[in-house]
Amino acid sequence: MTVPGTPTAASRVFAVLGDPVAHSRSPEMQNAAFARAGVDGVYVALRATERTFEGLVRGLARAGGGGNVTLPHKERLFAMADRAAPDAHRTGAANTFWAEDGELVVDNTDVYGCRGALDDLAPTGLAGSSALVLGAGGAARAAVVALLGAGAGRVVVRNRTPERAARLVADLGDARVSVAEGPIGSVGLVVNATSLGLAAGDPLPMPPAELAATGARLALDLVYAARTGGTPWVAAAREAGVHAADGRGLLLHQGARAFERWWRREAPLDAMREALERAMG
Ligand code: NAP
Repeated sequence: MTVPGTPTAASRVFAVLGDPVAHSRSPEMQNAAFARAGVDGVYVALRATERTFEGLVRGLARAGGGGNVTLPHKERLFAMADRAAPDAHRTGAANTFWAEDGELVVDNTDVYGCRGALDDLAPTGLAGSSALVLGAGGAARAAVVALLGAGAGRVVVRNRTPERAARLVADLGDARVSVAEGPIGSVGLVVNATSLGLAAGDPLPMPPAELAATGARLALDLVYAARTGGTPWVAAAREAGVHAADGRGLLLHQGARAFERWWRREAPLDAMREALERAMG
């Protein structure tokens, strides 16, 4: 007799691959989802180096499982794929993989996840709004594509290394997206897609006075913190009267979309949200 929630010889094996990866909350979230949905799978975190990454991806997929990918492998996963979903093509990166008919298939569910986080933050929608995105890495690409999908009318990208912001804008090739030049002017929403806030002692990605000067009513931090109340930037934004959320929403919704890709059924969002809240304390 099998015990519910205990892996069997028939279990599909999934892993989040990254370096580092020990901080990941995806195992708690996905195993809770598997248990609630009653599917026979197990999800673990594995450190994957430059050398071991490709073999791990191909092995997991060929064995009938799959997984997620985090820093620094998202662009490499996209490059390895036999087939990629539209959001992976648009961002040039992928965070979810599995196999279909012997082919390696990938998606970038960070775009869907970011859209879910934006919808939670602004339930009335963002059609015609303007946004400032801080950062120009993979998370910023996902955020810009999600904002365009939500109907934003203007998205300005500002990055420490301006050339990288210019590359992002050129790659997306959408007239609504531009590189920040000089003062930002007024925007409705600011998204932090830099890694500032991950390490204790990081400066804020945007000081509260500058945030207030944009007139933004909304702020989304893609970084998430284990502490209730979110990241230091979320706390500062709230103090300045701005409605703000941290990256937990993105983590939740990207995971739900990945679940749906692997199992072809609706994700048990409540179980995943509860598991995340428990894991983060
Ligand atoms: P990435 O490709 O390495 O990009 C990092 C970005 O942060 C770059 O724009 C970089 O600017 C900027 N940055 C780093 N240090 C900085 C500093 N000291 N001052 C100003 N800017 C700095 O990483 P990514 O994949 O885009 O991820 C960014 C962050 O998003 C991650 O650290 C993670 O916390 C978050 N994220 C969260 C989720 C989630 O599920 N919530 C999912 C994905 C990502 P330069 O180009 O100048 O180096």
